[in-house]
Amino acid sequence: MTKINHVVLSGGTHGNELNGMFLIKKFQQYTNLIQRPGFSTHILIGNPKAVALGIRYVDQDLNRSFERESLENSTLINYEDLRARTIDQMFGPNGTTPSDVIVDLHSTTANMGLTLIVDSEEPFVLQLAAYLNSIQPLLKVFSAAHAGRSRDSLRSLARFGFCIEVGPIAQGILHAELFQKTEALIHLILDYLKQYNHNQFLLPTRSLIVYRYMAAIDYPRNEFGEIQAMIHPQRQFKDYEPLHPGEPMFLTFDGETINYEGNTIVYPIFINEAAYYEKGIAMYLTQKEQIAV
Ligand SMILES: [Zn+2]
Repeated sequence: MTKINHVVLSGGTHGNELNGMFLIKKFQQYTNLIQRPGFSTHILIGNPKAVALGIRYVDQDLNRSFERESLENSTLINYEDLRARTIDQMFGPNGTTPSDVIVDLHSTTANMGLTLIVDSEEPFVLQLAAYLNSIQPLLKVFSAAHAGRSRDSLRSLARFGFCIEVGPIAQGILHAELFQKTEALIHLILDYLKQYNHNQFLLPTRSLIVYRYMAAIDYPRNEFGEIQAMIHPQRQFKDYEPLHPGEPMFLTFDGETINYEGNTIVYPIFINEAAYYEKGIAMYLTQKEQIAV
């Protein structure tokens, strides 16, 4: 067992996601809330300039700026390149305070409810997820282990990176209920880590439902790259609900339905996320798996 020494709670990685940012500011003011014996908890506003401007990012998505090659490429000097390098020097593996755990707080315009995103399915990660899920059954667990996020995200600097993604929340606004639920999850995580360090957790085997990343689906587009269809009304806000072969996915501007052509049941998430239009993502398809932890 490896001891947890440094935990980083971060928000404002995307400057227009206010819930996480204000929660971090609250913790900044009341540091006693996040201190636990046995490890240090640090807080971080990921992208302060974007926060001040009320925008997602200044030059590029900070949460895609942590590829090791980019961090080590000193010719990359836009705002987020520099910010990523600064954060790496603080909390990265060779930083002044190497982080064991990063919990990065995000919000989404999709109906993701309370979602924990994990980038690996190591026992430590799944046990924490199963513990949280046992106390907060509404929590969904999305495994992005095969989505490449363990290389380019802010949370990827830590040995164990977690993202809490809550929604639906419009960009630039606060949502009190999800703010409080996120805060409760943070306390559960910190309590768990405290007990973990003291070796006090003898967890029974639990079953956990994990939604595993399969693919990112773009909107139908024409030869100029312009979107030709919208999320079908029957699919809007139906994150984590099954999509069967032949069911509607998109609706064209002419009113024509475009159906899902796969041959297995999938569980779309991040449906109609506002920030993903520029990334060419209309939704992620996931597989629902029940696993023993
Ligand atoms: Zn975000």
